[in-house]
Amino acid sequence: MPHVDLIVQGAGEDAMAHLLGFSGQWQAPAHCGLDHSLVENFQRYQPSVETSRGCGRGCAFCEERAMPLTDLKTPARIVKELHTLIDVYGDQSVRPYFQSSYLVPKRKWADELANAIQAAGINIAWRCESRVDSVKPNAVPGLVAAGMKVIDLGLESASLLQLERMQKADKPQRYLDAASKLLETCASHGIWVKVNVLLYGGETAQTLDETQRWLDAHAQYLKGVSVGPVVVYGPPSHSEEFLGELAEFGARPVEVSSAEERGVTQVHLSAEINHEQAEIESIRLSRRYMTQDDYFDLKRFSYYPRDYSDEQFRRDVADCDPQRLPFRQSA
Ligand code: SF4
Repeated sequence: MPHVDLIVQGAGEDAMAHLLGFSGQWQAPAHCGLDHSLVENFQRYQPSVETSRGCGRGCAFCEERAMPLTDLKTPARIVKELHTLIDVYGDQSVRPYFQSSYLVPKRKWADELANAIQAAGINIAWRCESRVDSVKPNAVPGLVAAGMKVIDLGLESASLLQLERMQKADKPQRYLDAASKLLETCASHGIWVKVNVLLYGGETAQTLDETQRWLDAHAQYLKGVSVGPVVVYGPPSHSEEFLGELAEFGARPVEVSSAEERGVTQVHLSAEINHEQAEIESIRLSRRYMTQDDYFDLKRFSYYPRDYSDEQFRRDVADCDPQRLPFRQSA
């Protein structure tokens, strides 16, 4: 990126006043949501509603581990932004992503959101992302009534040792118990749950097996599973410390020079699982829980262009190397 002379880690607001030459603190205007109409052919893409920013829960691998969580937007504000989307897109067929790295909806907030959305006559299905232990099952009915249809959950692992290494939770067993309850509750309300799994430093056949057994036991609640090995981003000044942490678990860079040359470092996870095996295991595990139709349903909901058809998808799948597909193919 030869024209970039400043990279801001975290939220950019603090740098905004300086960059735009304002004196004093810059404040985002109170009415602002995202102006989707600025994007060329925006009608082809699903919109986003930003609901909160930051997190601060301290997961070792995450850019937002120390970035403070902002307050959730109020239900009234979200309704206002949904109204704007309906105006801009012309109908209620959009399926926005409620963007929060770490959505923490209390039951009261979820119920108020449902009431506000229903009172406004809005009927829009949406998707969001959170931790498995942060959405309490008692908030799920309100979220469903407000339109939630898909939730992406960063489970990361079901190995207690790996969860500890990731600093994902202080009490990993309690974390997994909370995950079980949430998955069951979501499935019983017709929510599609997609779980993200991270193959991490120190991963072995045994830790992978623990995760697989947990996922097997919860397979009936899952619409899909995304699996990938940890990747370290940034130049050496930014990535050295994390690479050092991973090294303590037996992980090492595939190419030592790649942080400097490309700003991305792939890693061999352990003496037992190298990078190539981690990629193979990732695809194997995704396939175990996800069919082609599940994959298409999930991608079409939020990521594919709105006019991307099932037929086009099947043609594109037929052009792919079947060994690389992260789902089981339909006949
Ligand atoms: S809970 Fe999610 S967003 Fe927060 S630090 Fe962990 S991985 Fe990052």
